[in-house]
Amino acid sequence: MIGAGIVGCSCALWLQKKGFKVTLIDPDAPGSGTSSGNACTIATYGCIPVNSPDLLRRLPSLLFSKDSPLSLDLGYVLSHPAWMLEFLINCREHKVARITRLLGKLLAKVYAGLDPLLDMAQARDLLTQQGFMHVYRGDREFDAAKKSNQARRAQGADFIELDQGDIQELEPNLKIPFERGLLFDSISHVLDPLALCQRYAECFLRNQGQLLRQRALEVVHGDGGVQIRLDNGASVDAERVVIAAGAFSKGIDGIPTRLLKLDTERGYHVQFSDMQHLLKRPVSWHHAGFYATPMNLGLRFAGTVEIAGYNRAMNPRIISYLTRKAHEMLELPDKPDQEWLGFRPTCPDALPVIGFSTVSEYIIYAFGHHHLGLTLSGITGKLVAELANGEDPSHNITPFSPRRFL
Ligand SMILES: Cc1cc2nc3c(=O)[nH]c(=O)nc-3n(C[C@H](O)[C@H](O)[C@H](O)COP(=O)(O)OP(=O)(O)OC[C@H]3O[C@@H](n4cnc5c(N)ncnc54)[C@H](O)[C@@H]3O)c2cc1C
Repeated sequence: MIGAGIVGCSCALWLQKKGFKVTLIDPDAPGSGTSSGNACTIATYGCIPVNSPDLLRRLPSLLFSKDSPLSLDLGYVLSHPAWMLEFLINCREHKVARITRLLGKLLAKVYAGLDPLLDMAQARDLLTQQGFMHVYRGDREFDAAKKSNQARRAQGADFIELDQGDIQELEPNLKIPFERGLLFDSISHVLDPLALCQRYAECFLRNQGQLLRQRALEVVHGDGGVQIRLDNGASVDAERVVIAAGAFSKGIDGIPTRLLKLDTERGYHVQFSDMQHLLKRPVSWHHAGFYATPMNLGLRFAGTVEIAGYNRAMNPRIISYLTRKAHEMLELPDKPDQEWLGFRPTCPDALPVIGFSTVSEYIIYAFGHHHLGLTLSGITGKLVAELANGEDPSHNITPFSPRRFL
């Protein structure tokens, strides 16, 4: 296994469940990357991709507004045009409808993958079912999201509409008079996503898993298996390898991941310690592009999308945008206690990559889960373990195959 984020840890546990002897390779502590800083929702309603005809229409105003959850580094985009071009192609109506359908079907299986891991790792206390709320300032914002919300419902997401009074009653600390809202009652969220990965890792070690704190540089595949070369000069021989290094999966030599159009949508959070009592459930200010999530350690405002690659430093404009919006929404201390940047692994067609590599069945891919990596981690692990075990996957993964990029 290469990568100990939430996807890698979930695959590792599922492989152990199937009886495999597993080595997990990551230079960093389990879950300490993107998987630690997300908005914590098990977003089974999240079948609508960021790509949309509406995004195309709103793109100029989103890009040039100072008050926008979306930003692009033009220099980066112009030097990496292929991803952006395909992303825009996937904003067409029929493409979005297909992505929505495929994600919707996979999201329906989320708990078949997640529940067994929560039990196995004794981590049920880290999940809470308080529901989830989308809020809108007025009819214009609400109507703009209507079509997407109808599509969510068609994929099985269950919600009720709220008016201003309902919203006030459910979340009395909100300062903004949000006029319209949606309540998804059955939604759960994780109270600490880093702790969840740590629990998975502890369980993995208890089950005789081996954790190697090294960077994988190269995968060499031969007739009888693979060899993984590490940055300390050592190597690991294995029957199979699963690549679950999130947005960094394309940086490993020897496998044709460079052909995949994997890039990163950078996302941010600001967190206020001990302020979680202000909200009962995660609330998404849909138009502003972020979630406010009550967690064990505080209240986290997480979201935004920045297309600027891997190397640019944290963008202070986005941190101040999130902090300003947080203060508009709730009564909070002046400064957040934590500012964070993470790297969502995103393919331009908003579908994950789950399946055998195009060059060898000894190499299995499990990355590209963009805004849904926490949600889809368990079911991805289940499907990967089925593949590794020679079983027919319990869900049709053909649309997620890396072959789609050939
Ligand atoms: C602001 C924000 C909010 C989000 N909110 C949600 C949400 O509410 N719900 C949801 O479901 N998802 C959400 N997501 C998405 C989710 O966090 C990601 O999809 C998920 O964390 C990706 O997990 P991963 O395991 O694939 O990658 P990562 O967490 O990035 O883990 C990859 C691991 O691979 C390791 N690695 C990299 N290169 C190598 C190498 N060469 N050798 C060995 N190891 C390597 C890294 O050190 C890292 O530990 C959000 C994301 C962001 C940024």
